[in-house]
Amino acid sequence: MSTQSTPPPDLDAWRKLTALQQPEWADPAELDAVTAELAAQPPLVFAGECDQLKERLGAVTRGEAFVLQGGDCAETFEGSSADAVRNKIKTLLQMAVVLTYAGRVPVVKIGRMAGQFAKPRSKPTETRGDVTLPAYRGDMVNGLEFTPESRRNDAKRLLRAYFSAATTLNLTRAFTKGGYADLRQVHAWNQDFVAASPAGRRYDLLAAEIDRAMAFMKACGIEPEEFSEVDFFSSHEALLLDYERALTRIDARTGDPYDVSAHYLWIGERTRQIDGAHVEFLRHIKNPIGVKLGPTTTADDALALIDKLNPEGEPGRLSFITRMGAGKIREVLPELVEKVTRSGAPIAWICDPMHGNTFEAPSGHKTRHLNDVVDEVAGFFEVHRALGTHPGGVHLEFTGDDVTECVGGAHEIAESDLHERYETACDPRLNRQQSLDLAFMVAEMYRG
Ligand code: PEP
Ligand code: MN
Repeated sequence: MSTQSTPPPDLDAWRKLTALQQPEWADPAELDAVTAELAAQPPLVFAGECDQLKERLGAVTRGEAFVLQGGDCAETFEGSSADAVRNKIKTLLQMAVVLTYAGRVPVVKIGRMAGQFAKPRSKPTETRGDVTLPAYRGDMVNGLEFTPESRRNDAKRLLRAYFSAATTLNLTRAFTKGGYADLRQVHAWNQDFVAASPAGRRYDLLAAEIDRAMAFMKACGIEPEEFSEVDFFSSHEALLLDYERALTRIDARTGDPYDVSAHYLWIGERTRQIDGAHVEFLRHIKNPIGVKLGPTTTADDALALIDKLNPEGEPGRLSFITRMGAGKIREVLPELVEKVTRSGAPIAWICDPMHGNTFEAPSGHKTRHLNDVVDEVAGFFEVHRALGTHPGGVHLEFTGDDVTECVGGAHEIAESDLHERYETACDPRLNRQQSLDLAFMVAEMYRG
């Protein structure tokens, strides 16, 4: 085997470096027992599936496909019910159909699901009145409820996260491979949306076109297998390195390490230090990976990340998920894209129009305006079109339920409505209507 001559990658070298945003466990000894147990569990995803996704993302770097990635800011154990998972998948598939038709390119579908249980926080503690407790760091660390028992950083939750991810993935595989996701069915859902949406008329044209295309194919007797099954991949922020390390396995086919907790992992804006533990760990795994890039990112930062994370220039290995804010993207993105493109590195450019557009409503709710989200995506398309590069995809925080967390949209959610169904464990998500609105708007932008 050719791999015998190369030394095994150092999967533990990160332990000597600074790892930001790691919880202080209430009982550190428990972590060892838990990670040992995790290390003995079966993989959640297979290396071959990760390779397949990398290949699809390679097509994105060449301008031949578009990424739709999304889900909760923070999944919760309680929120991983069959209904919630199904609604999220249904919404994402509906958006994907619209984008596939408008873009005339395959849409790579990636859930921010089945493992998105850890959150970076700006402060290690939270204070309410005269009570200060550890900040909520995601269900794999502690609970959202503001009590000392719930906020205890409990390493046993890592195991629960693994099993919860397993059940979500099981549902996902059933929904996407079992006929539920049939293209004709998804299109019928979209027709319902158009009929029920106040902005429906605007989208009528696109939905009618899809309708005609489907009727035409049916008349020709075309019933491809691709209509009834879709490929759906899982992703989350690789934040807790003890968890990711415990779920890393050597692939028997190649001798290479894969993090089998998800198909795709990304490094957050707060943990992407070039000499930090996160970059060091992710550099050794073979999964396709991403890095979030905020508005202070320099072109040199981006080039250094490429050198470390994809030195061989493997297409699809590395994506940059930019989250600049609607007011900044047109100013800061061009130089990044230009210099990275000039370096020759294959990058899938994905737009996260959520994290640069968060503000606090007078009611105290953290929210986002759909107009800002749309404006950042528009800026993303403008910048890439002007440079002749490919706007490779979008990364969203959304849910399939009718929550009231972001303002705006065809159903006009106002700041004074936010209290009605504000259910997120962390950042505000687009609801089902807003997500579909956005998909139709992105489709219109894609067509130019
Ligand atoms: C997130 O995706 O929820 C997040 C924390 O994003 P970022 O790393 O871009 O701030
Ligand atoms: Mn978030």
